[in-house]
Amino acid sequence: MTTALKTTRQTLMIDADDTLWENNIYFERAIAGFISFLNHSHFTAAQVRQTLNEVEHEYILKVGYGLHSFAKALEATFEKLSVEPLTPALHETIHGFARAIAEQPIELLKHVSPTLEELRGRHRLLLVTKGNHEEQTGKVERSGLKPYFEAVEVVPEKNAESYHGIVEKYGLERRTTWMVGNSPKSDINPAIAAGLNAVFIPHADTWILEHAELCTAPEGQRLLTLERFQLLSETF
Ligand SMILES: [Mg+2]
Repeated sequence: MTTALKTTRQTLMIDADDTLWENNIYFERAIAGFISFLNHSHFTAAQVRQTLNEVEHEYILKVGYGLHSFAKALEATFEKLSVEPLTPALHETIHGFARAIAEQPIELLKHVSPTLEELRGRHRLLLVTKGNHEEQTGKVERSGLKPYFEAVEVVPEKNAESYHGIVEKYGLERRTTWMVGNSPKSDINPAIAAGLNAVFIPHADTWILEHAELCTAPEGQRLLTLERFQLLSETF
C-alpha cells in the first residue's frame, strides 16, 4: 500500500491551523488572560470557560469563525457573567485579548516545509482551511508556504458539502484524494462522509469545539493516523 501511494499521484488537501502551524495555543492564552481579567467572585475558571464555549458556539453560527467572532464572544461572555457594566475601557481591554492573537507571528509545526517540499514533487497539494477569508489568506501569505500549494481554499465551514464542492471545482478523483488534518470534526469525518480518504494528524492542543469521535472509513475508503506531519512523506 505504502509503495502505491508513493508512486501513484494523489491529491492531498491539507488543513492549516494546528496542522501546518500553531493556532489554538494563542486562543488558549487569550482565554486564560480573559478569565484572570474577569476574576469572577463566584464562578470558577472552568465555569467561565464553559460559558465562553457555549457563547462562542452561538457566535460561530451567527457570524462564522475568526477573530471578530471570538472578540464578540468574549464581550458577550463578560456581559453575561460580570456584575460590572461594559464600559468603553473594558470593551477595549476585552478586544485586546483577541487582537493579541492577530499579532502572533506564524509558528510552523516541526518539519512542515521540508515535508511539503518533498510531497509536492510527487503529488498535487491543495490547502483547505476554514474561517474568515482575509484572516486565513493573510496567515497563508505570512507562513511562506503558499508556493507549495496549487491553490488555497478558504471555506466558511468544513462539512461534507464543502468537500463535495472542492472535488467538483478541481475535478478531483475521490479514490486518490485525501484530506489531511488535526480535527476529527472538520477534517476527517466530513471528508470521509464525502467519499474521500483522510489522514488524521493529532495535535495535542486541539480546540475543544473541534473535538469529536473519529469515524471509521467505509470499505473502499482509507483513514490513516500519523503521529507527526513529517511522516506524510514516508507514506505518500
Ligand atoms: Mg486544524
